[in-house]
Amino acid sequence: MICPNCSTENAETNQFCVKCGYGLHNNTRFVYSKSSKERGIALILEILPGLFGFYGIGWIYSGKTMTGVILLGVGLLLIFIYGVSAIFTAGSACLCAIPTNMIAVLLSGIFLNSYTKEHTELFGV
Ligand SMILES: [Zn+2]
Repeated sequence: MICPNCSTENAETNQFCVKCGYGLHNNTRFVYSKSSKERGIALILEILPGLFGFYGIGWIYSGKTMTGVILLGVGLLLIFIYGVSAIFTAGSACLCAIPTNMIAVLLSGIFLNSYTKEHTELFGV
């Protein structure tokens, strides 16, 4: 990693810069510049596929793989349930699926948004 104070190259494991002694891991400016993920991309990945019933992709992107996989599984199960019930209800189950899906996407987006705001080490400020 590059020292934010003097631009010297340091080993990734160094706590302090070998040249100037600058704290490499305690410095907030450095932590924020390390953020590798975009909050906007996480939300788009959650909401766009979510409109089609594929939840959790934004969560997987955000590093919450287990949450994402569970949401994805629930989404696929719901698609299956609605698909089967649409056959037996001549499609009217789809009318119910659309608002339910909208609420699920909205809730998942809100939770993901607050998650990204709590994890500034991943997403910056
Ligand atoms: Zn330095």
